Amino acid sequence: MPPANRHKPKRARSSTSEYTLTQFQREFPDDAACLEHLWRTRHSPDGEHAHCPKCGSERAFKRYATKQGRQSWTCTGCGHHVHPTAGTIFHKSSTSLHLWFYAMYLMTSTRCGISAKQLERELGVHYKTAWRMFNKIRNELMKDDDKPLKGDVEIDETSWGGRPRRKLRTRKEQAQWREAKTTVLGMVVLASRH
Ligand SMILES: [Zn+2]
Repeated sequence: MPPANRHKPKRARSSTSEYTLTQFQREFPDDAACLEHLWRTRHSPDGEHAHCPKCGSERAFKRYATKQGRQSWTCTGCGHHVHPTAGTIFHKSSTSLHLWFYAMYLMTSTRCGISAKQLERELGVHYKTAWRMFNKIRNELMKDDDKPLKGDVEIDETSWGGRPRRKLRTRKEQAQWREAKTTVLGMVVLASRH
């Protein structure tokens, strides 16, 4: 996420408008995109190179589907597989990664939260599955235990209040305007490592 640009305010994550859903769908259209996101945020910022624990150094990796149909990235130096979901709540889940991401989107984009029952309806899964997902996301990803968040934390800060109605001429005016706006801080742990 690029830093918030106050001259071009973006809609807050907490907004429930169609726009943010569109944005979510554009960014995460399918399982492959979600997996690619985990790969890049957890292992490989450029999508091609990552630290190989077996080689003990930075190596080029290639995406590769295993016989079980599980996607992984393989070290071109030694053949070591890296599974981007390893150590996350999504690992080996029979629920698709895309549904997990959509569930996280729903749970974090509504201001008052969403119930397991609502998740069941929105995701089209059985209540038991929805309830399990709801608890994993709430307990493991949205833990509120006063400790700093662990793992890969994505933070997005944005100001709420739109553009100023008139041109702000002085620095003081600009500062006053910024202070009057609400700052929304969205934080989500994408993958907690224990
Ligand atoms: Zn290697």
